[in-house]
Amino acid sequence: MSLSRLTSAAIFIALLAGRAHALEQPANDAGPAGYRQELTAVADGVWVLAQPRFLVQPAGNVTIVEQADGVVLVDAGGSPGAARRLVAEIRRLTPKPVKAVIITHWHGDHPQGLEVILSAWPQARTISTAATRAHLSDPKTMNTPGAPDAKADADLRERTDGFAAYCLDMAAKAKTLEEKAGWEESAALFGAYADDMAGAVTIAPAEGFIDRLVIPDSERPVEVRFLGRANTDGDAVAWLPRQGVLVAGDVVVAPIPFGFGSYPGDWLQVLRQVRDLSFRVLVPGHGPPQRDRAYIDRLAAAIEDIRAQVAPLAAEGLSLEDARRRLDLSAQTHSFAGDDPWLRRWFEAYWITPIVASAYREARGEPIAQSLKGE
Ligand SMILES: [Zn+2]
Repeated sequence: MSLSRLTSAAIFIALLAGRAHALEQPANDAGPAGYRQELTAVADGVWVLAQPRFLVQPAGNVTIVEQADGVVLVDAGGSPGAARRLVAEIRRLTPKPVKAVIITHWHGDHPQGLEVILSAWPQARTISTAATRAHLSDPKTMNTPGAPDAKADADLRERTDGFAAYCLDMAAKAKTLEEKAGWEESAALFGAYADDMAGAVTIAPAEGFIDRLVIPDSERPVEVRFLGRANTDGDAVAWLPRQGVLVAGDVVVAPIPFGFGSYPGDWLQVLRQVRDLSFRVLVPGHGPPQRDRAYIDRLAAAIEDIRAQVAPLAAEGLSLEDARRRLDLSAQTHSFAGDDPWLRRWFEAYWITPIVASAYREARGEPIAQSLKGE
């Protein structure tokens, strides 16, 4: 079974090796508060579905753009269940068909609803960068099987049941109320996620572009661009020049960024290009729409801080583990996660652990693999 199948919750797999046991509480199929994505209008004819806060198993935001002859989506929902709710939401907004789906990157919480969307609108174009298309065609980086597979479904259910049981166990041992609440909420989250993921398959987009692709429209044209490697080696962003809306995918994720298999130096160049676009609204890959540049500036500063600390340690010949011990990332941890012990835990797991590994490899001139294993 592939470690990447649970997307960002790969950390859970490491925590759980050999620990899965029977779930003591029935799964809550609605999940915790904020699991179901909420709709916000960000411009005339442009909506975003987003989870309003951080969850350890997140679903990627979906942007809905109504053009004259159909709807363009940026990302497809985090699971078949999320995509079924997305299809219902689109039908409430407009009778027009979905004409195109842009997948921002290969991590499973963004493309996983594509099959459900194509069942509703089989004529829709499917688009990503060529790199993302290659990952979604490669069994090593496919999040789920290419065709329905009862064994893969049962394996996923067993893993999520194990995660939920582990979360309840951790809740019982938690030292703070925030952590106790976080673990309890995550137990319900994995129950809902397992229900939503039943029958999930990976579909590679049909069209892979290199640097730019335009979906024209008189009112709401969409320019899809590859600005460089950042969170992955194939992040697409979508730019709506008339509305000043930039859909950034996981190049920007809030309240805490994700760093698995990322490219810190290139990411800074991408953030500079994002900053120079005259956007009024920035839609991150996770978290609510942003209306200023404060968060992307903080993100860029965090990446610069990590690169500046890691490079001299790598040059001294320290191992990655020894280099980690010499870092002081308390300022950026406080900046993103404050004093919340729950958020600080995941800032460490989803940001610091993987991006320090990337910065170390970058400093040593070693290749960075596309992986969700946290290293
Ligand atoms: Zn994501």
